[in-house]
Amino acid sequence: MSDCIFCKIAGGEIPAKVSYRDEEMIAFDDISPKAPVHVLIIPREHLATLNDPGPEQEGLLGRMMTRAALIAKERGVAESGYRVLVNCNPDGGQEVFHLHLHLIGGRKLGPMA
Ligand code: AMP
Ligand code: ZN
Repeated sequence: MSDCIFCKIAGGEIPAKVSYRDEEMIAFDDISPKAPVHVLIIPREHLATLNDPGPEQEGLLGRMMTRAALIAKERGVAESGYRVLVNCNPDGGQEVFHLHLHLIGGRKLGPMA
């Protein structure tokens, strides 16, 4: 998707603080962090929302979740605790329409909305 900001980050066209990359996903710091640790994990493939993956992407989604846990460990929040979430579509608070996991931690998080 030529006009997608996260595709541009994945393609290296827009800079980001990338902490993990492989052939199918990358992880980078959120530009407007909500906590001391706030990392976004995205597939390289443009999938707009969580409604879009099909059965062929189930493995990818699982590996993204596992990667979130590994990054939490690297960032030192695995034991203190963290949250992994996906916002989907406007009522879910999604602003960037390229599927991403938020990994948020490093402080006591409030209850879910
Ligand atoms: P969401 O509301 O779930 O779509 O979250 C989008 C997230 O992307 C927000 O937390 C933004 O701060 C973050 N974001 C937007 N643009 C950038 C960017 N260029 N680099 C890193 N994070 C970004
Ligand atoms: Zn995209």
